[in-house]
Amino acid sequence: MKNIIVAKFGGSSLADSCQFKKVKLIIEKDERRRFIVPSAPGKRNKEDQKITDLLYLCHTHAEQNISFDYVFEIIGNRYRDLVKELNIDLNIQTYLDEIKNKIKKGASADYTASRGEYLNGLILAKYLEYEFIDPVEIIFFKPNGIFDEERTNKEIYIRLSKVERAVIPGFYGAMPNGEVKTFSRGGSDVTGAIVARGVEASLYENWTDVSGFLMADPKIVENPKNIKEISYRELRELSYMGATVLHEDAIFPVRKVGIPINIKNTNRPEDEGTLIIDDLDPVSYSGTITGIAGKKDFAVITVEKSMMNVEQGYCRKVLSILEDNNVSFEHMPSGVDTVSLVIAQNQLNGKLNRILKEIELKCCPDSLEVHPHMGLIAVVGRGMSRTIGTSAKIFMALAKENINVRMISQGSSEINIIIGMEDSDFERAIRAIYNSFN
Ligand code: ASP
Repeated sequence: MKNIIVAKFGGSSLADSCQFKKVKLIIEKDERRRFIVPSAPGKRNKEDQKITDLLYLCHTHAEQNISFDYVFEIIGNRYRDLVKELNIDLNIQTYLDEIKNKIKKGASADYTASRGEYLNGLILAKYLEYEFIDPVEIIFFKPNGIFDEERTNKEIYIRLSKVERAVIPGFYGAMPNGEVKTFSRGGSDVTGAIVARGVEASLYENWTDVSGFLMADPKIVENPKNIKEISYRELRELSYMGATVLHEDAIFPVRKVGIPINIKNTNRPEDEGTLIIDDLDPVSYSGTITGIAGKKDFAVITVEKSMMNVEQGYCRKVLSILEDNNVSFEHMPSGVDTVSLVIAQNQLNGKLNRILKEIELKCCPDSLEVHPHMGLIAVVGRGMSRTIGTSAKIFMALAKENINVRMISQGSSEINIIIGMEDSDFERAIRAIYNSFN
């Protein structure tokens, strides 16, 4: 199938009838938007509730034999209001009654939660006059609960090539026995990507309430610039460091076949948003860095042992101690006679002393030190590898701010530089780096 856009609309994009109207206008603007994936209605304001959360609440109440009538009434009202305000001909009450009954009779948490998307999909399909396709017919899981990529791709292609325009609710699919199974929270992003992959779309649009990714966290940097274009690998680096807009699993289905993702803002459709593109596509923007992200609260364990470089298997011994204690590490910078392990502090809770004792005992280091409270910042950009002086610029900016750099690591792909500093310098460091490139 050619020239198709799959458009996913998140919960805030479909939170009330006003939002539905915006969504309709957006869809009508480009006739390539043939397959639409909605989330369940999200929050209308800060104090509001997400339908999915309310559905999970109904399920927990039902499990404990507590009445959930009150919660279900709130859910019902949201959907009844939508149908009324959009003036569509749909007997939503029949569906609501059936769902309530099933929850009362012990329906699973996955089935219950999935009804948020199901009902929203029914309403949106009616409103757009698109066909409604229940994802249990086209999205499948294997008996072990893992997503069944092969079967799903095949079924989507067969089913959707016969359909001109359809709404396919996000977040769930079916087990081999037909039972509903959901993806993890935020999983409508994943459905959108799977559908895009299945119909071989030329673009996957992910409509949300922000105009794409920002170059830095707006809580730290005032009014950061928008990222116009980012490659999948850069995105992975930034999301690993805490920048999130998109469900991580949504990347893999489309990345594999080179379908770009455009993150767009339903409330400001004229904004370009962020385009996520193939790693091999040429860099078309002028800046050398794409974005900055980071996390605090790492601890560094530094092991020193003279002549470590000639002792075979030394690092393996150190790492096996972490493995035995179920601890993973993030980075492992090393020197001639030292190796440091950078570990998220929360992983070490209650385990640090044991790990240190084991290192003392099994690795006999000359010295063993722990430095807690380190922040890590990743400066990411495909443009960096060809630009001389990028790191000079970063470290000059930090020096000017009087920030002590505790660790430096540059991936061999040269698309990121990771810098460690005291947690207390973290925000200042991000601002300094951002300002030196903007
Ligand atoms: N409604 C689901 C959730 O809240 C899935 C989604 O919105 O993507 O997690």
